[in-house]
Amino acid sequence: MQIICPVCKKKTTWEENPWRPFCSERCKLIDLGKWASEEYKIHVGDKEEREEKEKKIMDSRYSEI
Ligand SMILES: [Zn+2]
Repeated sequence: MQIICPVCKKKTTWEENPWRPFCSERCKLIDLGKWASEEYKIHVGDKEEREEKEKKIMDSRYSEI
């Protein structure tokens, strides 16, 4: 299965890809850093609300596959 890396939009594979859904460790770290800063911004938000928001973001990501 081919997937598009959500960070650099390069094509990569799902199988045998330790960094999925990213193409590389670099992209994974970039994404984690981005998430960490977003998390910081919405820190005051209700926990459940935040989880719901994250779930929607994940859903929209995976629907691109
Ligand atoms: Zn990438």
